[in-house]
Amino acid sequence: MAKKDFYSLLGVSREASASELKKAYRKLAVQYHPDKNPGDKEAEEKFKQVSEAYDVLKDPEKRQRYDQFGHAAFQGGGGGGHAGSVDPFEIFREVFGGGGGGGGGGFGGIFENFFGGGMGGDPSSVRGPDLRYDLEISLKEASKGVEREVRYRRHAPCKPCSGSGAEPGSSKSGCPTCRGTGQVATNRGFISIQRTCPKCKGTGSVIEKVCRSCRGEGRVQETSKVKIKIPPGVDTGSRLCSRGQGEAGIQGGEPGDLYVVVHLKEHEVFERTNDDLYCEIPIKFTLAALGGTIEVPTLDGKASLKIPSSTQSGTVFRLRGHGIPNLRTGRKGDQMIRISIDVPKRLTKDQRKRLEDFAESCGDPGNPVSDSFRAKVKRYFKE
Ligand SMILES: [Zn+2]
Ligand SMILES: [Zn+2]
Repeated sequence: MAKKDFYSLLGVSREASASELKKAYRKLAVQYHPDKNPGDKEAEEKFKQVSEAYDVLKDPEKRQRYDQFGHAAFQGGGGGGHAGSVDPFEIFREVFGGGGGGGGGGFGGIFENFFGGGMGGDPSSVRGPDLRYDLEISLKEASKGVEREVRYRRHAPCKPCSGSGAEPGSSKSGCPTCRGTGQVATNRGFISIQRTCPKCKGTGSVIEKVCRSCRGEGRVQETSKVKIKIPPGVDTGSRLCSRGQGEAGIQGGEPGDLYVVVHLKEHEVFERTNDDLYCEIPIKFTLAALGGTIEVPTLDGKASLKIPSSTQSGTVFRLRGHGIPNLRTGRKGDQMIRISIDVPKRLTKDQRKRLEDFAESCGDPGNPVSDSFRAKVKRYFKE
């Protein structure tokens, strides 16, 4: 089933502003809303189409892609409907599986730490905060996967005292607050509540002599290096987690994690949408008319593409399997090639004469617009 043009679906011109789009969409959405048309399959379908069209056109980036590549820009990958943008958290979950080790499955925790919350409360269990590192990689690296070493400043566990905060060789003495039990009790009415001793943080002992390197904190500032393995298929916004490589905890507390957020460099030739690549190739107008074979760039090198005779401007060819491997399945997307027509900028006298003869033989003079369009215009003026 051929898809209807998104602009005509919404009944707006290709130059429609964002507010015009919104207005048109609202009107149609209300008109075709399933609640208003119970059991009406046609209305339901229309509602879906209109929503899909608006979903694409409201996003300036998607709209530009749609203007350039038409529906082909959003096919494949997403399994029909909208391929949509990929939720980076979704990727994260796919790559690392729910929970993984230690961190506890929920994602609320990440945000808490990213935004500096979640640290208050009992100082005895001060887990080090998570860190974020923004890493730029090339499109090719995103496609093949790559290993990168990242260097960053962080609090690392103090080596001389192994993070304990006590000067090496010095002894620890029993905590006077809890008498070495690590627990203190508070009485509230009939209930006695046990909690971790705030003085010794539950260890039952206190430091006699504070470590000189870290002044008892158990951690020091340093430049850390960590190797990050980037799997094939990552995209801008993908997050990779290196457990335990964030800030060290205080006095032996659990370290935070390092999150590496991937950013793709812009490519001169290719644009990427999900797993597919797009490129535009201007070909000489004679080749478009006569047909032939051209060499096209791909991420893996060169491929040849057959251009049939009478290829029109805007035709999109698909090179299967020349896209980016899917992060989850490893299946490669496609490469789309949009053909545009390159018209000579200068003609010699002789070339001009020949072209004029050619135009004459086609009956072009006085008839410069394509036959199919002329037929459309004729119908339009009849109405
Ligand atoms: Zn204590
Ligand atoms: Zn120390």
